[in-house]
Amino acid sequence: MERDYDVLLFDADGTLLDFDRSEHAAMEKVFARHGYPYGEDTLARYRAINSRLWREYEQDKILKPVIHMTRFETLFSELGIDGDGPSFNREYLDALSAEHFTVDGAEEVCRALSQRYRMFVVTNGVSHVQRRRLKESGLERYFEGLFISEELGVQKPRRAFFELVSQAVEGFSRERTLVIGDSPTSDVGGAQGFSLDVVWFNPNGRPAPEPAPTREIRALRELLPLLGA
Ligand SMILES: [Mg+2]
Repeated sequence: MERDYDVLLFDADGTLLDFDRSEHAAMEKVFARHGYPYGEDTLARYRAINSRLWREYEQDKILKPVIHMTRFETLFSELGIDGDGPSFNREYLDALSAEHFTVDGAEEVCRALSQRYRMFVVTNGVSHVQRRRLKESGLERYFEGLFISEELGVQKPRRAFFELVSQAVEGFSRERTLVIGDSPTSDVGGAQGFSLDVVWFNPNGRPAPEPAPTREIRALRELLPLLGA
């Protein structure tokens, strides 16, 4: 790459951890436990509701508890299920924290890069869920620290999130820091908003956001030659 970096900030879900697989496994378990029907489109409906709420949260239109209080409430009403949304959400998060599928190449790439770079996780997830999944996935050991929006009180892509990271990382320099993540908004947009270079992990070949990220990769292993590891 054009610059020499010494700090790498990795997004977690969809970048290191295979959130889709974890989500599906956790959802199926908790639906089965309650005896609710879990069909082909259950997850798709849930994801539509959930991503709408997360977008509203990223845009500061709602507070995070609203996501957790309403997402299953809304799903249940769409599916005609008579259930307790907030309590189902708690069970779902517990189940989710127990799932830790990694993205292809994540272990190998983190191991190799951690020998050359100081690495941190920057994630918008729920604290206990993210901490447990990163620990049990075996990836946590490669990171000097985890920055989780719930603990910082502010989320990506907000400047304040990256501001807090920059204050907490000793010797932080914008020019020597690289963000790596899959989200066009919270990772690419967030990094650009704080004048950081960013590698966009785009495994599904979606159209690139504007302005374009510093680099785009389809597989995590592409980071190794890019970063000289
Ligand atoms: Mg992500």
